[in-house]
Amino acid sequence: MTKAILALNAGSSSIKFAAYRVDREYPGLSLICRGLLDRHASSAGFTIKDAVGKILDQAQSASGDQTDPMSSLLPQLQRILGKDVLTAVGHRIVHGGARFSAPILIQGDVLQQLDALTPLAPLHQPACLAPIRVLQRARPELAQVACFDTAFHRDMPSVYKRLPIPDIRDDIHRYGFHGLSFEYVAAQIGDPQKRTVIAHLGNGSSVCALQNGRSINTSMSLTPLDGLMMATRSGAIDPGLLLYLLESKGLSTQELKDLLYRESGLVGVSGVSSDMRTLLSASDQRSRLAVDQFCARAAEYIAVMAVSLGGLDRLVFTGGIGENSSQVRSEICYRIRWLGIELEEIENERSSSTISRPRCQIKVQVVPTDEEAMIAKHILLLLPSRL
Ligand code: ADP
Repeated sequence: MTKAILALNAGSSSIKFAAYRVDREYPGLSLICRGLLDRHASSAGFTIKDAVGKILDQAQSASGDQTDPMSSLLPQLQRILGKDVLTAVGHRIVHGGARFSAPILIQGDVLQQLDALTPLAPLHQPACLAPIRVLQRARPELAQVACFDTAFHRDMPSVYKRLPIPDIRDDIHRYGFHGLSFEYVAAQIGDPQKRTVIAHLGNGSSVCALQNGRSINTSMSLTPLDGLMMATRSGAIDPGLLLYLLESKGLSTQELKDLLYRESGLVGVSGVSSDMRTLLSASDQRSRLAVDQFCARAAEYIAVMAVSLGGLDRLVFTGGIGENSSQVRSEICYRIRWLGIELEEIENERSSSTISRPRCQIKVQVVPTDEEAMIAKHILLLLPSRL
């Protein structure tokens, strides 16, 4: 009997997932299938593909169907797994707070503690905790593991960890996010002695400074709102603006939350879309400004990370935008060309693994991320005796 594990990466409106067979031999895991579960009311359903990308199964929920798409996914998945027994499920959990800085089995009061962190990631935390509850009801025998996006940044030095405010509480400090993505990419690129900045550019975006393979600074902070401009999030913003909107413009905290998390960033500036592909193909001035601002912000933060590292040997792009948009990579790199970055545009157009000129001192790379693979690896490390 072979065992299988499932990695779930739940966002606010979709869940990426991947199932792996547990092998006795190195590397210990082989991909069985991966897919996307869409939770938008209008298009709820799922797609499952095999290890080489061939569609294995696809289903749309009937309109008005109140069943959680997660519960309808399980039987389909079991059909694909065949005789492989699903033994454990790992979840990407956005915020681990002060208590959780390494993967952990979800038992006792863990879920309750994670729920309590919702104010620090109001869109993401409920979304990534919801599938845990569905699975606890549907498959109580499954071991469920929480893998934290904040964990990779746990050893940031105080100079970058501390917020420049008086002591309020121990748990109020800079955490950083996208840790599973940064950890995966760091393992792919090797050469930990190189001073490296990883730019994860997707709907959520952040950059991370790696010294000896470890995160020493990152652009997100206590919450996933800080730093780069994102699809619908503002990124760093004058804190005085928040006071002004609350005190003088009469915004409620809910309105402020909606403004900062859902209505700002690319969609706020363009007034058109939060999707980079749409904006790159649009010709109106506001869409152009949104793209320019996105690139300018990303370039600024890459330079900030280079300051943390005392220089830069390598820049790595990842995430949906970072992996696929040669135009965005080119615009960002142009803005930091003074650091010594020069792109080989043909390689950039092809999204090759190395896109800098051969003699350029700073190597620029494109590395596809795989948060699900990282989650699976953590399950394997945490539960060797069960698998
Ligand atoms: P998430 O943060 O939700 O995981 P992704 O990493 O999948 O998001 O990134 C989604 C973003 O990637 C969208 O803005 C999408 O337009 C962008 N994207 C995907 N493919 C391309 C492409 N070929 N060119 C430009 N942008 C792209």
